[in-house]
Amino acid sequence: MLRIAIQNKGRLNEQSVALLREIGINVDEAKRKFLSKASNFPIEVLYLRDDDIPQVVANGTASLGIVGLNEVAERGFDVEIAARLGFGGCRISLAIPKGEEYAGVEYFRGKRIATSYPAILRRFLEERGVEAELEVITGSVEIAPAAGIADAIFDIVSSGGTLVSNGLKEVERVFESEAVLIAGRNLPDEDRALLDELLFRIESEKVSRGKKYLLMNIPTSALDEAVKILPAMRSPTVMPLAAEGWCSLHSVVDAADLWEKVRQLKAIGAEGILVLTLDKIIP
Ligand code: ATP
Ligand code: MG
Repeated sequence: MLRIAIQNKGRLNEQSVALLREIGINVDEAKRKFLSKASNFPIEVLYLRDDDIPQVVANGTASLGIVGLNEVAERGFDVEIAARLGFGGCRISLAIPKGEEYAGVEYFRGKRIATSYPAILRRFLEERGVEAELEVITGSVEIAPAAGIADAIFDIVSSGGTLVSNGLKEVERVFESEAVLIAGRNLPDEDRALLDELLFRIESEKVSRGKKYLLMNIPTSALDEAVKILPAMRSPTVMPLAAEGWCSLHSVVDAADLWEKVRQLKAIGAEGILVLTLDKIIP
């Protein structure tokens, strides 16, 4: 039985549960406890604070975990990064009061910096030979300068709105993070085999995310051009229509490019374009 640790609440909880569901693992949220078994895969889910996830995976209490790369880097436990998951994106940045002039990292020499990520910050400053004083606080880091606790902060930024509303500006982007699947270093063979199966499914889920299935009728004379507009996985599927000189073309496109592709296809004579939701692509 594989055990996977995920966040019990907070920003990564919902998407972690959603990912498990997307890859066909039924975890009954209604009966959710500290530990719950999936009904259709030999896996049990352990719900923890994100701070504790790298440690339980490193010491073997859980074989796998889903956690922010920032937590992995901060805690320093030796675990394998088995997959990047493409959600929970954020960065950890240095920020200073917005009225201050900034010419480079030297600015921080002798300054007091408030943070919940002292290990990542210490590494960054040491590499640049800058000595500063770190004030480790666990929450509300962004109010530290206004409260007189520190001169600057090192904190998570996603849109930057929190910084602005606290009169701060971002001056160094130090660490880029996203949710990752982590694994213990010495998994037993049977756990490793289950992990490989999960990785295969996750890969397919990542490939299908944000994709649409497109089909349309197109004059056969415009086919070469349409194929150029739609570089599908290998090549688009083409099927003849009963009407002479027409065929049906099927392909997969990124949702982000959908309207631009539709515009180009209409311009070369495509008709009856259908856009369908795509569930899975198994490469
Ligand atoms: P816990 O109670 O589990 O310790 P937490 O308060 O430490 O939770 P959350 O705020 O739920 O953590 O964030 C979890 C993770 O989500 C972060 O470690 C980070 O990887 C990611 N994340 C993405 N965007 C943001 C953001 N804007 N602010 C904070 N974390 C973010
Ligand atoms: Mg935490």
